[in-house]
Amino acid sequence: MIIGLTGGIGSGKSTVSNYLKKNEYVVIDADEISRAITAKGTPLMDRLVDAFGPAAIDRKELAKLVFSDSKKKAVLESIVTTEVIRIVKEELKKGDKMVLDAPLLFETNMDEVCDFTILVTAPLELRISRVMARDNMSKEEILARIDNQMSEEEKIARADYVIDNGGSLEDLCKKIEEILNV
Ligand code: ATP
Repeated sequence: MIIGLTGGIGSGKSTVSNYLKKNEYVVIDADEISRAITAKGTPLMDRLVDAFGPAAIDRKELAKLVFSDSKKKAVLESIVTTEVIRIVKEELKKGDKMVLDAPLLFETNMDEVCDFTILVTAPLELRISRVMARDNMSKEEILARIDNQMSEEEKIARADYVIDNGGSLEDLCKKIEEILNV
């Protein structure tokens, strides 16, 4: 059983994956894998520096570089995403209650390896205020991130289940339970 879990910034995706972890699911975090394989001194980081210059070492700078340039974004993806997908597939073989936590689940077509997918959503203002309370990010930075992600409409159309996380944490847990018990 492989559950694909996704959601835009501040939607509550990590909160859902933490809940699943407590319920004996093994969570594979695609972002964590991506960060690990592009850490300083790794062959992939060397390739990123070749492609984008020394600024690539700083994740925030790299994000800025590719945000507004689709060609650069494609280069980044060709260097990193292919390898992330390869590792994810290996990791997913290691258990029978697996969750793939991937912000870019649909963008990278990783939903194809999942039995079903869950999208976590929440109203925009709520997502912004939750992220501002959690991270040192401005509203503008958060909006820029959101603009760069696949639209909520597209994700909703593609997901098997959509969890609206506009309520309390208790409501969120109930909604996860409902999906897991079907
Ligand atoms: P990102 O993609 O930025 O990592 P995320 O989708 O993983 O975000 P979370 O980190 O799970 O989002 O949630 C964002 C913040 O909102 C966290 O601080 C979390 O504790 C809080 N949060 C999530 N759901 C709720 C809720 N239903 N009620 C109150 N706070 C919540």
